[in-house]
Amino acid sequence: TKKKLFSISKSLSEINEIIGKQVFYSNIKMNFNYKNENEELLIYGYENEFKQVLLNLINNAKNKIIEKQLVDNKKGTIDINIQRCVNFNTIEIIDDAGKIDEKIIHSIFQPYFTTKNDGTGLGLYMAKVIIEDKMRGTITVRNEEEKVIFSIKLPHKKV
Ligand code: ADP
Ligand code: MG
Repeated sequence: TKKKLFSISKSLSEINEIIGKQVFYSNIKMNFNYKNENEELLIYGYENEFKQVLLNLINNAKNKIIEKQLVDNKKGTIDINIQRCVNFNTIEIIDDAGKIDEKIIHSIFQPYFTTKNDGTGLGLYMAKVIIEDKMRGTITVRNEEEKVIFSIKLPHKKV
């Protein structure tokens, strides 16, 4: 398939169709927060690959929250922030289930890196390849308080 312009909000509503119910029934609140509410934000790239990346990030967040709930039984939150920038649009995926250990935060995009018994360690590696090599954007991670923030920047014009 070829690169094309596609709508972020359409991708996110399709993702919500796929995973929204599972998230809801796991006692997790998922918020889609659009900074520029009245604007249709676009991405130039591969729509299906983009959705695959977001599903992976949301799944990682969901599974981490479910694991934490076994201990504290609290409702978790996944925030998805969408914002227009000058040359890029930014999508953040944020969970509130605790920070990533600073000792491993620089390794999580490496192929086969996993801390899970049944993990493949390929989700974030694939995300990096798709977002950076194929779509000319960036994907980064940082801790903020007890939250983990994955930030994706992608061009909204032909590149
Ligand atoms: P997998 O999910 O199979 O382990 P990934 O590439 O998706 O592989 O993730 C690699 C590792 O990054 C995970 O095993 C986990 O240690 C860490 N990680 C990913 N997402 C999060 C997150 N939201 N919060 C904390 N750690 C995370
Ligand atoms: Mg994963």
